[in-house]
Amino acid sequence: TDALPEAARAYLEGKRLDEVECVISDFPGIARGKAVPAAKFARQSSFHLPESIFFQTITGDWSDDAAEEGFVERDMILKPDMETATAAPWTADWTLQVIHDAYDRSGAPIPLAPRNVLKRIVALYHAQGWEPVVAPEMEFYLVARNIDPAKQIEPMMGRSGRPAAARQAYSLTAVDEFGPVIDDIYDFAEAQGFEIDGITQEGGAGQLEINLRHGDPVKLADEVFYFKRLIREAALRHDCFATFMAKPIGDEPGSAMHIHHSIIDTQTGHNIFSGPQGGDTDAFFHFIGGLQYHLPSVIALLAPYVNSYRRYVRDYAAPINLEWGRDNRTTGIRIPLSGPESRRIENRLAGMDANPYLAIAASLAAGYLGLIEERRPEPQFRGDAYDSDEGIPRDLAAALDVLEGASAMTELLSPEFVHVYTAIKRAEHAEFLGVISPWEREHLLLNV
Ligand code: GLU
Ligand code: MG
Ligand code: MG
Repeated sequence: TDALPEAARAYLEGKRLDEVECVISDFPGIARGKAVPAAKFARQSSFHLPESIFFQTITGDWSDDAAEEGFVERDMILKPDMETATAAPWTADWTLQVIHDAYDRSGAPIPLAPRNVLKRIVALYHAQGWEPVVAPEMEFYLVARNIDPAKQIEPMMGRSGRPAAARQAYSLTAVDEFGPVIDDIYDFAEAQGFEIDGITQEGGAGQLEINLRHGDPVKLADEVFYFKRLIREAALRHDCFATFMAKPIGDEPGSAMHIHHSIIDTQTGHNIFSGPQGGDTDAFFHFIGGLQYHLPSVIALLAPYVNSYRRYVRDYAAPINLEWGRDNRTTGIRIPLSGPESRRIENRLAGMDANPYLAIAASLAAGYLGLIEERRPEPQFRGDAYDSDEGIPRDLAAALDVLEGASAMTELLSPEFVHVYTAIKRAEHAEFLGVISPWEREHLLLNV
């Protein structure tokens, strides 16, 4: 227990640890792994899992495209990162979860593992003497429990059953409507040692937002990964579902995972986005320039499903382009009002359905290329940016095309990763296209 972080130690104080869940994130961001008895975990230093967990589409089918020779059935070696040890407070016994890292037999990190992709990008920053800092925001819906895919998703109405109250952005009454679920979210987060910066009602009926305190990108991606599980568990306890779909309900706002960026100079300890007099630096503009130039290549990571593209529509505070603006929620890139030390750049493109490791890696990689290539951004956008919808690939297939053609970005993320990821996504997309929709039956059955 000496190796355990403070919160995990506090959780177990006076208890006997029963079980350890050894987890790793797959492409969608789902926890995969093994639950092992505590005594066994203490004895073993690593365990094996087939690398092919990364070859599965969201529906669980094995993809023939990705299962090419050389990739099939190889085992990877998973080693615990003890700093990530945290409670699983919803379980009946005393359980810890520990995130693991994936290595091959020679001890090299497996490039397909999302956490390794992110670590690769963070290492590039460190090599330049930069400490990247991120703060993700998590939007999600509490919805009525239902597993019939033919039915529309219905928002959870809250204790009073009044839809109006549940739709007012920033309404504290609306937050109270979901009091019991939120209490559990707070309790679980506290037991896991996570600091919540705030929880608010978002614009949609039953839509909530949780902000996390800024910090190291890998640590924050771990937290989002853990939080999705925690929030789901809290919702289930109250007979509803939490969904992280980007656009669960057609005429309600989508759910975003905004990522706020700043960068600390390791030598001086100062934010490189603001100068000595508090003005904007070249680095500030280059990072924005990098986002504008390189984000199209990684939209497939920020918007990974067919559904993700339904979020990019006008007038729901979601982006439809890569303009940047100060204090402007219609632009894809927003500079929030702030003092010089907390000057930051908010990337509003990622949906909440994105894998947090991959989305944060993608955003950091675009900014990094901008810094290295000294990209100048377009002039700042003023006014309502919903006039133009240029710049963001319109659907998953288009986004995959751009990613496959992006050589500098592919090098950063790793060619093996891009190869397998795009193959999986193509297979998923083909499967979607094979499904005849209610719209087609409604409009075509008797009309053509
Ligand atoms: N829900 C909006 C989106 O899908 C973002 C709302 C906000 O500005 O926080 O992008
Ligand atoms: Mg929001
Ligand atoms: Mg935001």
